[in-house]
Amino acid sequence: MTPKQPGTTSDPGPRSPRGPSAGTGLADHVAAVERLRSDYRALPEGAPVRLAKPTSNLFRFRERSSAPALDVSAFSGVIAIDPVERLADVGGMTTYEELVAATLPHGLMPTVVPQLRTITVGGAVTGLGIESSSFHNGLPHEAVQEMEILTGSGEVVTATRDNEHSDLFHGFPNSYGTLGYALRLRVELDPVSPTCTCATCGSTTPRRRWTRSPGSAPTAPTRGGPWTSWTGWCSAPTSCT
Ligand SMILES: Cc1cc2nc3c(=O)[nH]c(=O)nc-3n(C[C@H](O)[C@H](O)[C@H](O)COP(=O)(O)OP(=O)(O)OC[C@H]3O[C@@H](n4cnc5c(N)ncnc54)[C@H](O)[C@@H]3O)c2cc1C
Repeated sequence: MTPKQPGTTSDPGPRSPRGPSAGTGLADHVAAVERLRSDYRALPEGAPVRLAKPTSNLFRFRERSSAPALDVSAFSGVIAIDPVERLADVGGMTTYEELVAATLPHGLMPTVVPQLRTITVGGAVTGLGIESSSFHNGLPHEAVQEMEILTGSGEVVTATRDNEHSDLFHGFPNSYGTLGYALRLRVELDPVSPTCTCATCGSTTPRRRWTRSPGSAPTAPTRGGPWTSWTGWCSAPTSCT
């Protein structure tokens, strides 16, 4: 499935991941992109561009604004999951709570799941999210394969690590919406173990506590290895189990 919209003429638009898909659907997403582009064009000249989002995890002092905000509610859902390639196509305003609920039935999870359940995938990527599994999986943006972004010019482009929009792709993390809004992201997923055990690495103080799959050898933590989470620090040997 390779729709021609959204995007510029040079942009082929999103490809659905292969394999069974579960989610809001690409056709709905493509229609929502067109509506958003139209809403964006209709903003009054010089008006600040704002997102109408029901949640936010960026605490800052702001003047109340009566300026219209872009309705991005259509971008809060999982579009498709490819359990074979371990990829999810997800709307930019999808919360991690929603994404995890969609991936777990496939035995998969995002490589990093922020602690606050209302953090969105787009917000975590543009806001440089982090959580415990980052110690071996990196940051959320490092598991992104491509992003569909509404830019300031009103275009919607698909940026990847190495296409003509790679500058945008690489500059997007930590840009906090200043370079555009991510409407769709393709993110890599990791397998989930049904159970885990808690173990400690032998080390001098302070001692690290790791979680690893049952029966796995106590090797150094690496992505894709048995280690699934860094659960904290042991302050004293007696507190380690
Ligand atoms: C108390 C607190 C605890 C936190 N804990 C964690 C944590 O455990 N793990 C973690 O990773 N982070 C944490 N954060 C940081 C949080 O991940 C970032 O602030 C993140 O940007 C919030 O994402 P959001 O989806 O809630 O977006 P918002 O708060 O709505 O927006 C944050 C910024 O991102 C921009 N933005 C939002 N969506 C998009 C999009 N789709 N495309 C482009 N720009 C967008 C907005 O314009 C805004 O500038 C915490 C923050 C706070 C205040």
